[in-house]
Amino acid sequence: MKKSSGAAPAISGFPPGCDAIIALGTNMGDRVLNIERAIEILGRAGDIDVVSRSRLYRTAPWGVIDQDWFVNACVGVRTTLSPHELLGRCQAVENEMGRVRTRHWGPRIIDVDILAMGASCINLPDLVVPHPLIAERSFVLVPLRDIAPNIALDGQSIDELLKAVGGDDVVPLDHR
Ligand code: AMP
Repeated sequence: MKKSSGAAPAISGFPPGCDAIIALGTNMGDRVLNIERAIEILGRAGDIDVVSRSRLYRTAPWGVIDQDWFVNACVGVRTTLSPHELLGRCQAVENEMGRVRTRHWGPRIIDVDILAMGASCINLPDLVVPHPLIAERSFVLVPLRDIAPNIALDGQSIDELLKAVGGDDVVPLDHR
């Protein structure tokens, strides 16, 4: 596994019509329901408007691999919240859904991360945007491509990044 520097990559090609892209993942309980519930909670206060959604993907665990499979997805949102306000709302979704932090990268009922906010580049101890691990995670790149196919990170397109990491372990749930 390639080691991330932990710094935000440069981003281009952010899709018009949304302000932020959020990644969702879950590998406990009814995973599809967990994703739907997280999206519903995100939009509930009215200051985050979910305007685009990727397909849902069944994905292999990453990092800590002796755990159950995940469902992953991405959503595009319109919002005037600041990056830290949006981070707070992502964490509020995790808390409301009862996420218990056991081991790093371990099983979780829901994980809600900010992937990108327009062309913003943020490198703070508690918030890095674009998320520094996007390029290494096929389970993020594949759903991200559904809603933001023109994004490039540090000059590399999503397809180029996927060629490097492989995307075979990311299968659409509606795949027949
Ligand atoms: P995780 O265990 O993946 O949910 O990571 C949560 C931690 O990552 C929190 O302490 C956040 O402050 C931090 N963090 C840094 N950048 C981001 C980001 N882009 N989206 C969500 N959490 C982030």
